[in-house]
Amino acid sequence: MPLAVTHVLLTIIVVDIWRDYFTKHKRYVTMHTLFLAGVGGLLPDLDVPFNIAANWMGMTLPKLLQHGGITHTPFFALLFFIPGYLLWKKRKHRMAMYFYVVSFGILFHIFLDWFLGGGSYEGIMWLFPFSLQGFKVHLLLLVGGGNIPSALDAVILLFWLWHEEMKHKITDFI
Ligand SMILES: [Zn+2]
Repeated sequence: MPLAVTHVLLTIIVVDIWRDYFTKHKRYVTMHTLFLAGVGGLLPDLDVPFNIAANWMGMTLPKLLQHGGITHTPFFALLFFIPGYLLWKKRKHRMAMYFYVVSFGILFHIFLDWFLGGGSYEGIMWLFPFSLQGFKVHLLLLVGGGNIPSALDAVILLFWLWHEEMKHKITDFI
């Protein structure tokens, strides 16, 4: 249930903080990398428009292609991680980083859906393709959902604005 803004911004914030304070590969992380991290953070929900389009055409998709299906599994993230790893080995570091952050964005998305509530009712299939068992905490649904997702959106947006403001103030001094 986390909304699009939460998914996109939170992924960008985490990657941005990681870039600013934790990685020694900073030069491989460009503005494009941050953009793609945001895209990756929303990518699993591609199954939503996909299903709407299918419904328009009068089709019902198999369960794995429905919302919260295969795009909400670590397996889907792995599909981006592997090319990233191969590119990194070939010393195409910037390109590899694009795939890594998309892969991270997907994992982070399904973590949020698992923890806060999102994807399919049954939960996240962490073990796919070995098992179709779903797992969930769905914290927001437990505490009664309501306006929390929108509030979360607002808080994250403000936090991000504040972080950007602080960062630029700091760089002004350097
Ligand atoms: Zn989702």
